[in-house]
Order: sequence, then structure tokens, then C-alpha cells
Amino acid sequence: MSASQSNRARGLATRLTHAGRKPEDFHGFVNPPVVHASTVLFPDCATMLSGGQTYHYARRGNPTTDALEEALAELEGAAGVRLAASGLNAVSVALLSCLSSGDHVLITDSAYGPTRHFAETTLKRLGVAVDYYDPAVGAGIEALFRPNTRAVMTEAPGSLTFEMQDIPAIAEVAHARDALVVMDNTWATPCFFDAIGHGVDLSVQAGTKYLIGHSDAMLGTVAASERAWPGLKETHGALGMHVGPDDVYLALRGLRTLEVRLRRHMENALEIARWLAERPEVARVRHPGLESDPGHAIWKRDFTGATGLFAFDFIDSVSEAQSHAFLDALELFGLGYSWGGFESLAIPVRLKGARTATPMPTGGPSVRLHIGLEDTADIRADLEAGFAALKA
Ligand SMILES: *Cc1c(COP(=O)(O)O)cnc(C)c1O
Repeated sequence: MSASQSNRARGLATRLTHAGRKPEDFHGFVNPPVVHASTVLFPDCATMLSGGQTYHYARRGNPTTDALEEALAELEGAAGVRLAASGLNAVSVALLSCLSSGDHVLITDSAYGPTRHFAETTLKRLGVAVDYYDPAVGAGIEALFRPNTRAVMTEAPGSLTFEMQDIPAIAEVAHARDALVVMDNTWATPCFFDAIGHGVDLSVQAGTKYLIGHSDAMLGTVAASERAWPGLKETHGALGMHVGPDDVYLALRGLRTLEVRLRRHMENALEIARWLAERPEVARVRHPGLESDPGHAIWKRDFTGATGLFAFDFIDSVSEAQSHAFLDALELFGLGYSWGGFESLAIPVRLKGARTATPMPTGGPSVRLHIGLEDTADIRADLEAGFAALKA
């Protein structure tokens, strides 16, 4: 058995600790070197032209990128993995790898906003027809298929609104119609949702979030099933995509502690979500790990954990200005985009017409929270101060 085959059977924390590491290749050092490179030299013309040397040119990979791609391929159970400059770049290369002019793609109405923007601009300009579907559609997605539907783009839970989806049911329909399933799996990460194991062909992560985990770099990853891998490899190479070795190294470093960080994010976020659900100012908490959430049954069936990101809606009588007073009063929570770092963050949710297949949520204003690794007593005290400011 090769090292990676035997590691695949081990527990998640063990796999994260050992995946993609080959100390014997680097004089015994625990971690691979950060290889800053463009040119690779060959000993002679015969070697140069034979294609027999491992590395040819750094755009096509080096020992640092290989270490991360191999580790993620093992973690995701993928045929292969490619790296992108950002999470959005990972979404765009995944879609470009399986869509051509004249094709049709079905995208969840709850997709990450910039994914929708990419579809509305670049995909449409290239002659791809785009339709949005209700994330609750399940096997009913069959009715939305056209003869030229080549891909379904999913994301669960949905960005900002946190709807779950029946991914295996959607994948079954897509595969019967010879279409690929692309999933933005940033929320759960491969640690808490085995996307490829549930029928996804192109599993995308914004590595910017939990993988890097420290709000200090940007990266995207795409893991492919056997059937999607040749297309991903070709498109990624043809586009000349490359990620600098320092950022790749930060992702490798983040990978080693991913399991312990995610567990703490999960515990902290569930505690805060339950606490918020009891508050009189809160109408609804959008977190699939809560028993009261409409997506809880699917989450429990398919996912093995939850991370630190969720949203809540204020009651109807809370105004936009009051919700801003709440946010402005927070001290531990930074007001900022992105999430997945060690620190707590908050944003006002603004959907701005970003739902076309499902009704826009009504009611009080909504806030998205990322619960960081701080002590929960301090996080609660910070939110208490926010509620006090809302009433002031
Ligand atoms: C942040 C995010 C992305 C994009 O990642 P970037 O690295 O910021 O480009 C994609 N999908 C989801 C769900 C995200 O939250």
C-alpha cells in the first residue's frame, strides 16, 4: 500500500496532519520548501524534449503546489486538484472547464453573489444560457433540465440565506443527463461535507476562508471527480493559472490545524446561534445545525459538522438604522467581508435583487456573523452590547 492509500483510511485529524507530506524528499524536513521559481533547468536536450523530467516550467507546478494539491486530492477523494488565485477564480475555472458556447447551466438562486455575476457577464457573453433554481428543488430539478444542460452549480448552505440542498438527489438527475455537478463547498469544507462522495464532480473551496484560516492570503481550490478531471486540468493549464508559492504554503500550513479550528468554530457558533435564537429581538436564526432550521434534516444526513458562519433576522419592528447601531456597537466583531479566519466578523445582509427563482426574504433586517475562536462569554457580551445600542 502506498503512503497515501493507507492514510486515506485514517481519521480526519490524522489525514490532515500527514496528507501531502514527503519529508524524505526534502532531507527529512517536516514541511516542503517554498519554491520560488519560474525556469526549470534540464541536463541535456534529450531530457528536455523527452518529457521525462518531473518539472518543466513552474506555471505547471512545483514541489510546493504539488504538496497542497496532493494533500487536498487525498482529503477530497478526488482524481486531481488544481489551485486558483482566489475562491472566485476557482468557481470560474470550474465552470469554464465544463461549459461551452450553446450550453445551459442551472445555478442555485442562493449562490455566492460574485458567482452569479460571473454567470451573468462572462458565461452569458460566451454564449452559455443561465437559469437559477430554488435551492429546495431536490430531484425536482429534472423539470428544469434542457437537452443542452451541461452543468448544475450548487452551494449549500446558501450564501447569506443558508438554505440546504439535497445534493445526492440533484447529482443523480444531473448524471443521468450527462451533466456535471459543480459545488461551492466553502462553508463546510471537505472536512464536514464529502462533496465528491455525494456526487459532486467539481468541488470548489475558497481557500481564503478556513483553509488559510488567518485572514492573511487568498486562494481557491478545485477538486475533480474522475469524469471532470481531464476538463479541469486542460482548462486550468490553458488559462495559465498559477498561485505564488508563499500563498500556497500558507494554505498548507492552515491545513494542518484545520480540524481543531473547525471544531472550535462549530462549538462556538452553535452556542451563539442557540443563544441568539432565544433573544426577543431575533425572529429567526439561519443555521442548519439548529434543530429548528428547515435544512437541519439534510444537514444531519449528509454533513459531519458545521462551521462558524450563519445569519439571523431581527424581528419586523427593528429598523435598518437600529440594525446598523447594533453592528456599529460591536467591538470584538470586525465589520468586514470574507470569513473563515480566527476572528469574529459581522456584516449587514443586503441581497439587492440577488434572488430571482425564489422570493426575497421579508421581515426585519438580517445580519451575517462569523464566529471566531474567541471565548464565547466575551462574544456574548459583545453581542449584548450591540442589542443595548439597538434599543438606545
Ligand atoms: C468568499 C467566498 C468565495 C470567494 O472567495 P475569494 O477568495 O474571496 O474569491 C466563494 N464562495 C463563497 C461561498 C465565499 O464565501
